[in-house]
Amino acid sequence: MSGLSCAGLGVAIGSKTVLGGIDLTLERGGVTAVVGPNGAGKSTLLSCLAGLRRPSSGGVRLDGADLFALKPRERARRLAFLPQTPEIAWSVEARTLIELGRTPFVGARGQTAEDRTAVDRAMTAAGVEAFAHRLVDSLSGGERARVLIARALAGEPDWLLADEPMTGLDPAHQLDAAALFRRMAGEGAGVVLTLHDLSLAVRIADRIVVLAEGRIVADAGSGEVLTPDLLRRVYGVEAVLTEGPGGPLIDVVGRA
Ligand code: ADP
Ligand code: MG
Repeated sequence: MSGLSCAGLGVAIGSKTVLGGIDLTLERGGVTAVVGPNGAGKSTLLSCLAGLRRPSSGGVRLDGADLFALKPRERARRLAFLPQTPEIAWSVEARTLIELGRTPFVGARGQTAEDRTAVDRAMTAAGVEAFAHRLVDSLSGGERARVLIARALAGEPDWLLADEPMTGLDPAHQLDAAALFRRMAGEGAGVVLTLHDLSLAVRIADRIVVLAEGRIVADAGSGEVLTPDLLRRVYGVEAVLTEGPGGPLIDVVGRA
């Protein structure tokens, strides 16, 4: 019963079914990309899997236990969520914000050496040491995104669920983030990302889950899923799949 799973998961907002009949079992040690058109339900699915949104039907289990029955502190220790448009409410130094990633561990006596080591490691991994003492609201969008990745890493979570973490990163930092997510998975974490760049999804992920209109329409190894036929049906585009010098390439040539 290991892994993060949902069964019969549905979310209705008002009279609209945003997600329906989602059955998914994710294992640690791999990167899963969730892709699909705008409004397909990707963000909603991720927030349910992170325990932040209660589904209208079905449930979410983490290693067999009901995710919504876990204490928030326990859930936060095991699972980190990176929202698509994070709101940073206060003007604090980057390091202070990253230290918040240790909140689920910090006891009455405050930060330990272990907490500080985890924060240092996360800052190095996300390449944000240079901003340690900058105020987060003075950082560029991409710099802030990396600080938030570092905050998530500081908690050394078993699971990282990140909603469009590549959006806003320049090509070099996209490569770094991709390497970071792969490394986390290599070290045994479960990594779940929503992505719009399909070539990037194929290159980063072990598995791709395709959502359309609130349902899973494909779910398989990353090399098998994104066929021209599926891209036509799901996105309404004509695409050519080639092997580029840097890996698989999905060239969208026009509307279907
Ligand atoms: P995606 O991340 O794939 O673009 P979302 O999960 O954000 O999709 O949204 C799925 C659908 O749910 C969209 O049609 C969106 O408009 C709708 N939706 C999300 N939140 C709300 C809300 N609070 N009220 C009404 N509709 C919503
Ligand atoms: Mg979204």
